[in-house]
Amino acid sequence: MQDTFKHKGMRNKLAKTLKAKGITDPIVLNAIKAIPRHLFLDSSFEDHAYQDKAFPIGANQTISQPYTVAFQTQLLGVKPDDKVLEIGTGSGYQTAVLLHLKAKVFTVERQHELFKRTKLFFTKMGYRPKKIVFGDGYKGLKEEAPFDGIIVTAGAPETPKALLSQLKVGGRLVIPVGVEEQEMTLYSRKSEKEFEKKTFGSFRFVPLLEDKN
Ligand code: SAH
Repeated sequence: MQDTFKHKGMRNKLAKTLKAKGITDPIVLNAIKAIPRHLFLDSSFEDHAYQDKAFPIGANQTISQPYTVAFQTQLLGVKPDDKVLEIGTGSGYQTAVLLHLKAKVFTVERQHELFKRTKLFFTKMGYRPKKIVFGDGYKGLKEEAPFDGIIVTAGAPETPKALLSQLKVGGRLVIPVGVEEQEMTLYSRKSEKEFEKKTFGSFRFVPLLEDKN
């Protein structure tokens, strides 16, 4: 598959749709315009890749809806060179958005099949996260902490304490919290001990699964 002017046109249209739905950050909209989402999906979804919808990516998982990706990225407020941890690599689309904002990205995926496939895809496409880790994102990534930003792209039944503790002071955690439905939640670390919490409406994600062993 290739990236063509036709795809670019569809991306511009998608960015307009997201703007109409309330995404205001121009750097986030530019990332949506730049990243060839159709290449992150199975070729059978090519014609639908620029609809504002989630799609299956195998292993019972989905690529998040573009609006959700844009909304979470906007909340995260990424600046160039920020150290960002992503939990749930999945298709790698959210990773590519973060890389487009010039973040240093560390991404964790617990499904081995997706981890392997997306790692290979990044190499093929020339996307360069700092690290792609096969493991349980519930624990964060202690050896690389602290982070300026942490973004969780699966629904967490509760906020993992490890993630809060791996934020820099001034850092932000964006995480959908809930079981059936998730409330989009933003934590900002104000000091060693204080966190500010704000919520931003409900979303639906595949579950963040904890490895109990
Ligand atoms: N960011 C992805 C979204 C994929 S869906 C994208 O843009 O395509 C959420 C992903 O989180 C799935 O791939 C799922 O396997 C993964 N996941 C679920 N629980 C996890 C955990 N504890 N640690 C790391 N990844 C997890």
